[in-house]
Amino acid sequence: MDRRNFLHSSSLMAASVAFSPLSIPLSPKKDKLGVALVGLGYYSTDLLAPALQQTKNCYLAGIVTGTPSKAEQWTKKYNIPAKNVYNYQNFDQIANNPDIDVVYVVLPPSMHREYVIRAAKAGKHVWVEKPMAMTERECQDMIDACRSNKRSLAVGYRLHHDPNTQEYVKMLRDGAIGKIQMVNCSAGYFDARTTHWKQKKELGGGVMYDMGVYVLQGARLATGEEPISVTAQQFTNRPDIYKNGLDETTMAQLVFPSGARAAVQTSFGMNMNNLHVVGNKGSLRIEPYSAYSGVKGVGPGGKVIDHPYEVPRQQAMQMDDDAAAIMASKPMLVPGEEGLRDIRIVEAIYKAAQSGKTVTL
Ligand code: NAD
Repeated sequence: MDRRNFLHSSSLMAASVAFSPLSIPLSPKKDKLGVALVGLGYYSTDLLAPALQQTKNCYLAGIVTGTPSKAEQWTKKYNIPAKNVYNYQNFDQIANNPDIDVVYVVLPPSMHREYVIRAAKAGKHVWVEKPMAMTERECQDMIDACRSNKRSLAVGYRLHHDPNTQEYVKMLRDGAIGKIQMVNCSAGYFDARTTHWKQKKELGGGVMYDMGVYVLQGARLATGEEPISVTAQQFTNRPDIYKNGLDETTMAQLVFPSGARAAVQTSFGMNMNNLHVVGNKGSLRIEPYSAYSGVKGVGPGGKVIDHPYEVPRQQAMQMDDDAAAIMASKPMLVPGEEGLRDIRIVEAIYKAAQSGKTVTL
């Protein structure tokens, strides 16, 4: 089965179909979509722009930046015409630019809602980086804006587009380890920064929003269910930086309707990256679980899960899948509703950690 057919038959796709509005066809019809990156920080510079040099269904057509020197460098490096360069003030004029089909919001999370809504109102399809936004309400506003403007909305969950992730999810759904009973997922790295937005609560900082969405994805993809309750604990070894509700390390325990349980850990103070799923007939281990350079694992009976690729192939696969879906007026593999489900759980986890009580969902 080729990759595209597999995508369409996978349970990831099935989960998305129920929620995603079909976008209206592009006119005139194109065979390659123009993407404008909003926010030219680390992820746009090191991963997305290089990936857009590899993509077949989309290309880097424009940029939105508040820094004139970056505009100059990027236009030269990527041969972007001056008419496709915007700043945060004149961004809404992108509505009049037929070169730009998709706006990809790669800003700090507190800014996602505003730019997704402005892009949808400008008539553009929208991709938004994780975490989708700060609250479930904000996520819903973004979904509503795209729906009412008949535009597609996808969240930049690159792992859903990774063939290794797709393989282990299919194995689990096919019953390879039986009924899922216990999941453990960890994702963290040591972040030495102290004044970045990741260390500022008001800009969307805190690890549960950042790496935390990956461990929730691990638990949700492994079980195929939504949690019904959570408990959580938070701690820090750097209280001078991580204070006033800004978390360095969060641990949470999730209970699922089937009775399956998940323990998840996420941190800006420790390097960790793995998923362990235990069923009544066997187990599966994925490590690394969310690396750019490739997800790898071992399933039951020693079955190796390892479809290799190089950085930034994962990001290219994500954008190619999403561009192809837009051009075919098909649902997004990871629609806004999927990002919202995680943010709903993130909010419950913060509440559980602060109160010390179980929070039901
Ligand atoms: P970054 O700090 O390197 O870049 C942020 C960009 O936003 C910068 O260009 C900055 O100038 C701009 N910006 C505009 N207004 C700002 C403001 N008020 N404060 C701070 N910056 C402002 O961050 P990043 O690591 O590129 O992350 C951007 C987004 O991408 C986040 O949502 C992040 O979670 C996401 N991300 C996703 C992945 C992934 O694997 N999917 C990896 C890294 C980052």
